[in-house]
Amino acid sequence: MTSDAELIQIVDAAAAEAARLAGDLLHCRKGCTHCCVGPFAVTVRDLERLRAGFECADEELRGRLAARSAEARQAMFAGFPGDWESGTVTGLAAADAFDSNHEWLPCPILDLETGVCTLHAWRPVACRLHGPALRMNGFDLRPCRLNYAGADPERYRVPFDTPDAGESPLTYIAWAIRP
Ligand code: SF4
Repeated sequence: MTSDAELIQIVDAAAAEAARLAGDLLHCRKGCTHCCVGPFAVTVRDLERLRAGFECADEELRGRLAARSAEARQAMFAGFPGDWESGTVTGLAAADAFDSNHEWLPCPILDLETGVCTLHAWRPVACRLHGPALRMNGFDLRPCRLNYAGADPERYRVPFDTPDAGESPLTYIAWAIRP
């Protein structure tokens, strides 16, 4: 199976190529939190990476992230689209509806004052793909609506594949950091 380092290298290379092609049409930048508010499903593999980043953080940040994650899990209790205790998602359609109902909920990893991802180097694959027009394994990912203003994103879409990445159950970022 593709190692996590190889997977991240493939994903980051595709996103960098899409950013290069789009140039000024891409408005993704540090401090923009558009894609960090509202929950979305990530993989268990993403959670393992985030936990590795959490272990590298200083004590103050670890305490803050643990508290924010606990708050986020509580906010996601009612109507959770799967097993709330483990955080495992069991229905994608139900997860989409759940996400829409919680679009106000910020990611617990996001620094609300600076708009910075506090575990940026360890962030999930989905976070790395938000923004530009990409085609992952033949599936078109929807670019952020703040990008490509007045231009057709299809002209800039970058295809890439993650062969042999393996299947990973879906869950949520708030379950990465638990007591
Ligand atoms: S992990 Fe980081 S990049 Fe991803 S949604 Fe949270 S704050 Fe944003």
